[in-house]
Amino acid sequence: MAREKQKDTSFEGKVVLVTGAAGGIGRAAAVAFGRAGACVVVADTSVDGGHATAAMIVENGGKALFVQCNVTRAAEVEALIDKTVAYYGKLDCAFNNAGIEEEHLPLAQADEALFDRIMNVNVKGTWLCMKYELRQMLKQGSGSIVNTASVAGLVGAPTQPIYAASKHAVVGMTKTAAAEYAREGIRINSVCPGVVNTPMMGRALEREPLREKKLRNVHPMGRFAEPAEIAQAAMWLCSEQSSFVTGHQLAVDGGLTAI
Ligand code: NAD
Repeated sequence: MAREKQKDTSFEGKVVLVTGAAGGIGRAAAVAFGRAGACVVVADTSVDGGHATAAMIVENGGKALFVQCNVTRAAEVEALIDKTVAYYGKLDCAFNNAGIEEEHLPLAQADEALFDRIMNVNVKGTWLCMKYELRQMLKQGSGSIVNTASVAGLVGAPTQPIYAASKHAVVGMTKTAAAEYAREGIRINSVCPGVVNTPMMGRALEREPLREKKLRNVHPMGRFAEPAEIAQAAMWLCSEQSSFVTGHQLAVDGGLTAI
């Protein structure tokens, strides 16, 4: 007799915000949180992609609100948190995942505009999200934040020096804020993916198709991650299952940083 699959209710009653949720890792996470019963806030600059993610969650029987937000703008991030609380009443978990990549260039060839663009989204954007999320979580006396860093936040990434600097900064903010708010009932961690099969990776391989094999092979597992595999790690860090974990950088990298 076929056994009925148990419904995942691990995030029932929880309000979860995901940034960069119009595609890639963010979409996979938003959909997975929705499937697990969360009330999800889908945030992104992309209106079409954001609505599409929200629709996927609702089609699966979940609850979703799309809010257009550019994470580099303080007023928009503050409004995002205000809308979340106005709509759902609280904010339990935040997955600060919006980020942009760098075209592959050695350090001396990159220009100032590229530096500013990457730092603005990856560092300032993550800081602004944490700032306004923390203000809400402090009022509640509880919360869990997960930032998307990268293996490039743990080790060097030749031809991506600015991206690596930005992700090392995310790791530094994660560790510091984790220590600052540990006694307030708020945990803060990061996920550090290896190369993930997302539109971001697609753009990189379009520019340099010959890199694909080499890139796969830097992972001892010999493959890229699927977005859902990163989403699962972020969910675990958000969940009560990781209740004594804070200030941690969880590598989800097929063994890349093990060698
Ligand atoms: P993606 O480009 O597929 O998706 C990123 C999403 O972020 C997009 O929907 C985009 O619209 C949104 N976004 C970009 N700038 C924004 C802004 N200013 N405000 C709000 N939203 C914004 O990328 P992805 O591969 O899913 O990457 C997600 C995160 O994972 C990023 O932080 C990235 O640096 C990190 N990461 C990706 C990989 C990889 O190989 N794909 C590896 C390690 C880490």
